[in-house]
Amino acid sequence: MQDPGTVTIVGAGLAGPLLACSLAQAGRRVDLYEKRSDPRLRGPERGRSINLALSTRGIHALRRVGLADEVLRASALMRGRMIHHPDRSLTFQPYGNDDSQALRSVSRAGLNLLLVEAAARLPGVRLFFDRKCTGMDLASGTLEFAEGRIQAGFVVGADGVYSAVRSALQKQERFDYSQEYLGHGYRELTIPAGPGGAFPLEPGALHVWPRGAFMMIALPNSDGSFTCTLFWPFEGPNSFAALTNERDVLAYFELQFPDVPGLVPTLAHDFLHNPTGSLVTVRCRPWHHAGRVVLLGDACHAVVPFLGQGMNAAFEDCTVLADCLARHGANRTAAFVEYEARRKEHVDVLADLCIDNFLEMRDRVAARAFVLWKKLALLLHRAFPRWYVPLYVMIEFTLIPYADAVRRARRQDRAVRGVAFVLLLLLAAIVVGAFLR
Ligand code: FAD
Repeated sequence: MQDPGTVTIVGAGLAGPLLACSLAQAGRRVDLYEKRSDPRLRGPERGRSINLALSTRGIHALRRVGLADEVLRASALMRGRMIHHPDRSLTFQPYGNDDSQALRSVSRAGLNLLLVEAAARLPGVRLFFDRKCTGMDLASGTLEFAEGRIQAGFVVGADGVYSAVRSALQKQERFDYSQEYLGHGYRELTIPAGPGGAFPLEPGALHVWPRGAFMMIALPNSDGSFTCTLFWPFEGPNSFAALTNERDVLAYFELQFPDVPGLVPTLAHDFLHNPTGSLVTVRCRPWHHAGRVVLLGDACHAVVPFLGQGMNAAFEDCTVLADCLARHGANRTAAFVEYEARRKEHVDVLADLCIDNFLEMRDRVAARAFVLWKKLALLLHRAFPRWYVPLYVMIEFTLIPYADAVRRARRQDRAVRGVAFVLLLLLAAIVVGAFLR
């Protein structure tokens, strides 16, 4: 039986320990339960993405708990996309107009460790590792673990995309739930650092090899290495299933990604032995029940990783949930209702944007018209920074809620089209006038 004022968070991945820091700093007692072993005692695990793109929303949430500077110090700056064409040529597409509009590549394991250590330092936080939650009885508020049960006062399900806490909510009537898998999965490869820790590719960029129906990306690590992620179909042509021996793997990379075999000495072996992850979008509602349980991060809104926003949005959840709890005091139901109202519409829009950005990255980024449009958008942003902000810049480098950003982008694009139309009419009038004179 737990003190009713204690917050029990299930999941000490990325969002769980950040929320623990935020609530403990506000004077609450927090118990954090995690199924994996203590990251302070073990090395990094394989199977999840090795590094992540951190942007303004995530940095803002980290700053609120005093951790942003430490995280940024260990990060690598990415100022834009470096496109690798099949003929080995490169083109650079900046994300914004200066370094305030750049992404940060951070190590997932390093960030998890830093957050867990920060939570552990705070009075009022207790951490329990190797504790897998197997279910929850919503009527009594009892959390179930292999080791026994806990009568919890208030539970936060921060246990990721396959959340056990959400599963308990799913058994309730009128709970909406959908999950949608992409036909593509992901597999990771590592480009090791060069001699003396030198970066073998341009360090200040997110590298993209767009190939139409599939692609590869690479993010820099602060030790000079790069983590590549292949986003390929599971089956069919150009798929993971199509390559089953080392000779075929090397021949395929020589054809599609000719600059890569020279950078990854263990390419064929790693390709054939590294695990393949799946990519899923999860939506559900409501995110809370009876003022006793609430969901956070991937547990309520997993998105595919093509905008690098899943963690950033989960961190934003932490800030909003902590604010709502502070505002509503003992009335947790009101806090949860406000939290969901402030987040749901926006993360639903984010889910669609992420899928759209997959099409952009694997396909459109290499097209001349796309490059021209991006250049024009940044020119407009530089000339009229308050009036015109490209959608990508709003998503990655501002705190404008996602759905508001999309609405604003549509208004801006209508205005640009209107101005272009008027300019064309004027030009036509001048040409006709000159001809008639
Ligand atoms: P998680 O980080 O998944 O944490 C959940 C925790 O709960 C885990 O520690 C897990 O072990 C624990 N847990 C699970 N079940 C139980 C249980 N039953 N009992 C106890 N503990 C449990 N986002 C970005 O912002 N930028 C990126 O560049 C980016 N790249 C990505 C690349 C890939 C390939 C993928 C798959 C995702 C990427 N994401 C990225 C998304 C990001 O990883 C997630 O959105 C983020 O991890 C969500 O945080 P979370 O705390 O909600 O869940």
